[in-house]
Amino acid sequence: MSHDAPGPGPSEPFEPNADELVASNERFAARFADADLAVRPGRQLAVVACMDARLDVSAVLGLQNGEAHILRNAGGVITDDVIRSLCLSQRMLGTKEIVLVHHTDCGLQSVNEGEFRRQLEIDTGVTPSWTVESFDDPYEDVRQSIRRLRMTPFLLHKEFIEGFVYEVETGKIVEVDAGSM
Ligand SMILES: [Zn+2]
Repeated sequence: MSHDAPGPGPSEPFEPNADELVASNERFAARFADADLAVRPGRQLAVVACMDARLDVSAVLGLQNGEAHILRNAGGVITDDVIRSLCLSQRMLGTKEIVLVHHTDCGLQSVNEGEFRRQLEIDTGVTPSWTVESFDDPYEDVRQSIRRLRMTPFLLHKEFIEGFVYEVETGKIVEVDAGSM
């Protein structure tokens, strides 16, 4: 990543967070008011986004708790497991729309797929069954992801698939024109 992360650097001793998270949760649970939320997402919406720590999906899109399924992985890649979740989301829990959110300055843009796999094999003796799915252009990567969704037989609803690139520099999302089916 091109930015210096806040907090201690890699050479400083690491302080685990779990105790602080538990304390935060006690405060959260004390004012909890969402016990009556329905299991079905209120907006009938599923979002697939990168796991990037700077991308606060709910804040960026104005989503409230209970309104959407939010699926995240490195890159917001449409993997078999994401399709599994979307299939369940649509068939079991009534979602009809998919929104993809990739972003600028993604960690995957600096990964060389071949070198990464070779290094893993050197370090561990095996190559992974999965691919890293690195990319150069986040806009083209969104188009590729939309194409993958359109090709899978496992989705009931493909009429409303939209893709965006979140600009970590401005906080804005830019819609990606993926063309027609
Ligand atoms: Zn990313």
